[in-house]
Amino acid sequence: MAETPRVTVWNEYRHELRDEKVAKIYPEGIHGALAAMLEEGGFEVRTATLDEPEHGLTGEALGATDVLLWWGHVAHDEVSDEVVERVHGRVLGGMGLIVLHSGHFSKIFTRLMGTTCDLKWRLDDRERLWVVSPGHPIAEGLGEYVELEEEMYGEHFDVPPPDELVFVSWFGGGEVFRSGLCYRRGLGRIFYFRPGHEENPSYHNPHVQLVIRNAVRWAAPTPGTAPVYGNAEPRERSKG
Ligand code: ZN
Repeated sequence: MAETPRVTVWNEYRHELRDEKVAKIYPEGIHGALAAMLEEGGFEVRTATLDEPEHGLTGEALGATDVLLWWGHVAHDEVSDEVVERVHGRVLGGMGLIVLHSGHFSKIFTRLMGTTCDLKWRLDDRERLWVVSPGHPIAEGLGEYVELEEEMYGEHFDVPPPDELVFVSWFGGGEVFRSGLCYRRGLGRIFYFRPGHEENPSYHNPHVQLVIRNAVRWAAPTPGTAPVYGNAEPRERSKG
């Protein structure tokens, strides 16, 4: 892992500008809240938003990113295919990706998963987020569970079976949901983390912040030999 992972927090940044309730919870935007707590955690952080040129995700910006966080909801369709292609390439090349909450329907996540990524939902519920992989680095420092006031997401969640399942949520209405999922695609590590509905202050919750900091460390690329593909000369010639 790089000594200090360089993090880019990407946010579509629409709810905070249109909805007073959301602006009150996240006056600096969801990206601002996430960036502040990651900086406190010692990471090198920049932010990027949808309305910036190239959504703030130029080749140069992505080249200087070890881990990308993604929060989107109402404007997934406005993300350009060219930028999605660029992010996809960087993930396969080793950049970590943390997809948050309604990012389950983002172009980049559905592309990486290859499924619809659909789910059930309902506003204003109670969530108990259970650690189902004690000892996993993303759950480091947590107790058995975290309780949140949140939107409900329910199974079935149409994603491929994860490589590792870190959290399962129970909701007050009786549903359950796989809330913390680890995948590898190419050299890249991907973590999907469920909490973070814009009308709930979950990104101010210290336990949620701890999970995201842990996830950044887990998703950061491991330096190593670049893979070599294509036609290859033999390493030695056997004597005939
Ligand atoms: Zn939501």
